[in-house]
Amino acid sequence: MEFKEATLEERHMYYKKEWNIKDFPDFITDSLKRREFGFDHDGNGPKDRYRTFNSIRDFERFMKIKAPYAAYSSVAYYKKPEAREDWIKAEIVFDIDAKDLKVRRCDCTPGNICEICLEDAKELALAIIDSLRSNFNLKNVFLIYSGRGYHVRVLDEEALYIEDRSKIFNYVTASHVPKDLFMTHGYSENFRKMFAFTFSRMEYIKSKKILENREEIIKRFLNRRVDFLDFVGKSTKRGILKNVAEINAELADGKVTIDTKRILRLPSSLHSKVSMICKFVTNWESFDPLKEAVPQFRSE
Ligand SMILES: [Zn+2]
Repeated sequence: MEFKEATLEERHMYYKKEWNIKDFPDFITDSLKRREFGFDHDGNGPKDRYRTFNSIRDFERFMKIKAPYAAYSSVAYYKKPEAREDWIKAEIVFDIDAKDLKVRRCDCTPGNICEICLEDAKELALAIIDSLRSNFNLKNVFLIYSGRGYHVRVLDEEALYIEDRSKIFNYVTASHVPKDLFMTHGYSENFRKMFAFTFSRMEYIKSKKILENREEIIKRFLNRRVDFLDFVGKSTKRGILKNVAEINAELADGKVTIDTKRILRLPSSLHSKVSMICKFVTNWESFDPLKEAVPQFRSE
C-alpha cells in the first residue's frame, strides 16, 4: 500500500462523511474542558495551539468546518488549558513510531514504513502494555494507532500525578542491564522479554556463532539458563547485553513520555501526511491498520 498525503478536498471529505464524534474515546470526551488542543492547518506543524472547547458540539463543529491537516490534544489536564497553566495531572504515554524503529524485520529505509514494521511496532506496544499491567498493576491502559505507529496511554488515576516519568520509561523499555539477569519476576523478567524482541531483530552482529545460534540464545535466556550466551566469550557477552539495552532505550520516544505537557495526535483524526486514521484500538491482537485505519477516500 502507498502512503500518500491527503489533499484538502480529501480532508474535507473525511470530516464531512466519515469522521464521527462517536469514535472519540471517552477518556478525552470526559476531560474535554481540561485539555489544551492543537491543530496543524497546512502541514507545517501544529501552530494553532492553546485551543479549548467547552462542549463536544463546539469541538464537532470546529472539526467539520476546519478539516485540519492534523489534530492534537494535551496529555495534561490544566485548570487553565487556554494558557497551559495550573497543571493538574497528565496521562503517561509511550510513543512508538514505526518509521523510527531501531530494530525491524523489514528492509525499510529510515523514515519509511510497511506492513512488517507496523506489525513490529504493535508487538512492541503490546509488550509495553503487558509490562505496565503486570509490573505496575495499571489497569486503564489504552492502545491507539497513531497513523504511523502506536501510542500507549495510561489513565490510571494514581499514575497521573507522577512528575518524573523517566524511571517508568527505563523500566518498561528495559534500557539498562539488570545486575541479576535470572530473577524469576520483576525487572529481570522484563529485560529478558525485551531482549528477545530486540535481539531477534538486531542487524550488524559480527559473530558468526551468535548469528547461527540466535534463536537458541533467546530460548535459553527466556528459560533463565545461565549458559544462554556461552557461545561467545565474557566480554562479547557483556557487549551484547549492553548493546541491546541501548537499543531498547530508543525503541520508544522517551522525550514524549517525559514531557508532561506534550500534545498527542487525537484518536479519530486524520493523519494527512500518510492518509491514515488515528484510531482507538479495541481488538489489540487482531487489529490491522491497513484494513481498519484506511479512510474511505483511499480505499475506494
Ligand atoms: Zn518496514
